[in-house]
Amino acid sequence: MSQMQDYINEAEAALLHTYNRYQVVFDHGEGVHLYDIEGKSYLDFVSGIGVFALGYGNKEYNDAVKAQVDKILHTSNYYYNVPAIEAAKAVKKASGMDRVFFTNSGAEAVEGALKAARKYAYLKDGATDHEIIAMEHSFHGRTFGALSVTGKKAYREAFEPMIGNIRFAEYNNIDSVKALINDKTCAIIMETVQGEGGIYPGQEDFLKEVRAICDEKDILLILDEIQCGMGRTGEYYAWQRYGVKPDIMTTAKALGCGVPVGAFLMTEKVGQNSLVAGDHGTTYGGNPLAGAAIVEVFRQFENKKVLENVRRVGAYLYEKLDEIAAAQADVVEHRGVGLMQGLEFDHPVAEIINKALDKGLVLINAGTNIIRFLPPLVITEADVDAMLEILKECL
Ligand SMILES: *Cc1c(COP(=O)(O)O)cnc(C)c1O
Repeated sequence: MSQMQDYINEAEAALLHTYNRYQVVFDHGEGVHLYDIEGKSYLDFVSGIGVFALGYGNKEYNDAVKAQVDKILHTSNYYYNVPAIEAAKAVKKASGMDRVFFTNSGAEAVEGALKAARKYAYLKDGATDHEIIAMEHSFHGRTFGALSVTGKKAYREAFEPMIGNIRFAEYNNIDSVKALINDKTCAIIMETVQGEGGIYPGQEDFLKEVRAICDEKDILLILDEIQCGMGRTGEYYAWQRYGVKPDIMTTAKALGCGVPVGAFLMTEKVGQNSLVAGDHGTTYGGNPLAGAAIVEVFRQFENKKVLENVRRVGAYLYEKLDEIAAAQADVVEHRGVGLMQGLEFDHPVAEIINKALDKGLVLINAGTNIIRFLPPLVITEADVDAMLEILKECL
């Protein structure tokens, strides 16, 4: 048996089986390529689910993280640390939001966002039965709060009861949102572009109308930018494309490009009227290592003009996937924006993805019938061409 198979067997004997993993053990990466432990090279169009935006083997990033490791890793949030301060300034500047709370993951960022929204409403009327509207087919994470607003019943059912007073509306359908709004509604949460649910971009009219309703009724709009944020759509945050600013926003995944970090941010109005000392906390969140990673990520986004690259290569990918959609009778729809795109087929895509992996291309699904394209944000047109060549052989 191969060494790779030995490792896979050991993994299956030791790890809780919460994933049906692809049969490969990755070892290292270089640029937009991953290498397995036998040295085989793979073109990466997943970037660890939208995390590793800046390319593997990134010397400046690695050096920045290593320098912080040698200095200090952790002090706790009872004290200030410079990397966290610099990181907070960077994410504020990119988003135009006012107040930041750092977490270790996306789900934790969602938890904090929900707590902030409930506290804001509580401070207004003292009630403890506020409602939150979430979207069908959404994904916000696996912890109880985040799961409670995740619009996929199969993820929730075995773990009921969820947190209470969540209502689900149809994404991009303003009437279904309006029908759920009442005096108890304190927040509306949605992804600006739905990721796990199948790559569905929010429609501009829809987002603007939701924003208007929220303004009118002092309901907080929470935009989950964990997957679609950090440049993936060609702006730092996808809502910047629409000019619809949230009251609270979540970010994670590419925020740390590999060091586990997340954050929720809010406007000054929410910041001054929600969570205060004692209301929320984290041991690790915003520690010096996380801060150093975030600072370096933003520095490279600026220096390497990552957003411009996403717009240019994203448009190229869009055009090319449109050609495939037109040529393939089994493609139902091509959707997406920037370097977050999906091809929906009229059949499961697992076989295509496995074939691609065999041929040295890493792809991932979103739901059973959709291939999701989430490459590192530094890919070039030539990488897109190389991807297409393999993909076409697999279709
Ligand atoms: C991945 C994801 C999350 C959860 O993030 P974790 O870091 O896995 O907890 C939440 N929301 C969206 C939109 C995501 O894509």
